[in-house]
Amino acid sequence: MPDDLDDEAGVLTPDTAPDTVFERFLDEGALAFQRCTACAHAVFPPRVLCPACGDPRLEWQRSDGEGVVYSITTLAPRGQEPYAVALVDVAEGFRLMTNVVADGDVAIGDPVRADFSAGVTPAGPFFVPEEQK
Ligand SMILES: [Zn+2]
Repeated sequence: MPDDLDDEAGVLTPDTAPDTVFERFLDEGALAFQRCTACAHAVFPPRVLCPACGDPRLEWQRSDGEGVVYSITTLAPRGQEPYAVALVDVAEGFRLMTNVVADGDVAIGDPVRADFSAGVTPAGPFFVPEEQK
């Protein structure tokens, strides 16, 4: 393998691996996703190729963190507080699994937004209902 290969665009290194870049955005308090420059598909979770068209030219973008609950359920592990796990359709066009932290019930179709103060996992920030401050 030539030494200069690491300098070429698109070559993966530990620093440019999609998960690593995503974690750097999370550390900055940003929910990031990728946008395919060939077909405009929103790519999440992070990947090296567009799942819609196979193109490797994926551009990082920051989400505004606005979304709508697609599906939600409450898990009640023995000996632990119940918590809500949801699939959220984010406005930029991708869906992620997250925890929704709410004072009351949250239903399918409810508007939610990312809230890093509510909690963060390696997969992304928790969400809260839009009206909850
Ligand atoms: Zn694509």
